Amino acid sequence: MPALAQYSLPPTRLKDLFQRLSQAVDQVIAPTRVPPGDVFYDVVQGPDEVALDFGNSLVSPVAWLYRPVEEMFRVLPGEPPRVEPCGEEGRRLLFAVRPCDLAAIGRLDQFFLEGDFRDDLYAARRARTLLVALACATQADPRCFCSCCETGPYAEQGFDLQLSLVGDRYLLEVGSESGAALAEQCRDLLEPAAEDLAAGRAQQVQAFYAGLEQKANMPAAVRRLSSEAVPVELWDRIASRCLGCGGCSFVCPVCTCFYTTDQVREDGSIVRVRAWDSCRLEGYTREASGHNPRAHRRQRAERFSYHKLAYPCIQREGRLGCVGCGRCVTVCFGGVHMPRVAQMIRRGE
Ligand code: SF4
Ligand code: SF4
Repeated sequence: MPALAQYSLPPTRLKDLFQRLSQAVDQVIAPTRVPPGDVFYDVVQGPDEVALDFGNSLVSPVAWLYRPVEEMFRVLPGEPPRVEPCGEEGRRLLFAVRPCDLAAIGRLDQFFLEGDFRDDLYAARRARTLLVALACATQADPRCFCSCCETGPYAEQGFDLQLSLVGDRYLLEVGSESGAALAEQCRDLLEPAAEDLAAGRAQQVQAFYAGLEQKANMPAAVRRLSSEAVPVELWDRIASRCLGCGGCSFVCPVCTCFYTTDQVREDGSIVRVRAWDSCRLEGYTREASGHNPRAHRRQRAERFSYHKLAYPCIQREGRLGCVGCGRCVTVCFGGVHMPRVAQMIRRGE
């Protein structure tokens, strides 16, 4: 989808732009460097706290839309008991979201908002969150493979605003009506975008792709997995290297497994809490009887890959279940992360 409008921004005005955008919301969440130097998305108070010199964060900013742990509702004692919704108030800006994470947000929108069940918590948080994307064209992270998933290095849609550094300028694109309103508030900082700015960004792409170290032939893996041509021994080999830690799904911006518990609080209220879960964990599908349809790590490895890569899932959900963010490359102790597994599936070995 073409941008609604394009502007040029000198990097010297980026802090002013950030300040101006901050004034439009109650809270800004941006990448920030924490000791000993890792980048996390967190609430920031000003532009000096924002880190833009990073490949990607270990934890995706989607964690601010779909929270790792959150209270869903509370039941207050009384005759009759009262049910109160939980949730946070206020408008938020997610600043400098990488295009792969933006693609993941698109998938979460589909899952939580457009399926058979609408998730009110996610819907409320999503409706009051503005998204400012930051293209990756000049910063290839050695673990990423967005080129294989068609999710980067810049976004085509899904953002309110998008910043792309092209030479000595930022290209600022408007992607929504909300983004247009934000841009309007910053008009005195912006200049008309010269035609060669978008062309310059397009030229960066090949050099960016060449800098990516991870390669994953996803279409070939999809074909092979979807034709059920993967020998069971391959899943055994993957399982023998998998520790069953669940790390790959906890860092994956596309994964949506969760469980709920009801917690009794000191005031007598009962709070239903939702927390991230992982289909890589043995207890995820264990039933109350003790029977577990996916008791073996091999079955869980197969299920995880199937949901992300098999054609019926792609057909149902309209896209791959992987956006190529490379986070599982960082966390997997056994080296059986997505690009490696895609390679093993493709080769059948
Ligand atoms: S991160 Fe690696 S070792 Fe841990 S569950 Fe995922 S595949 Fe297995
Ligand atoms: S499977 Fe790995 S590379 Fe793909 S989106 Fe999830 S964490 Fe990122």
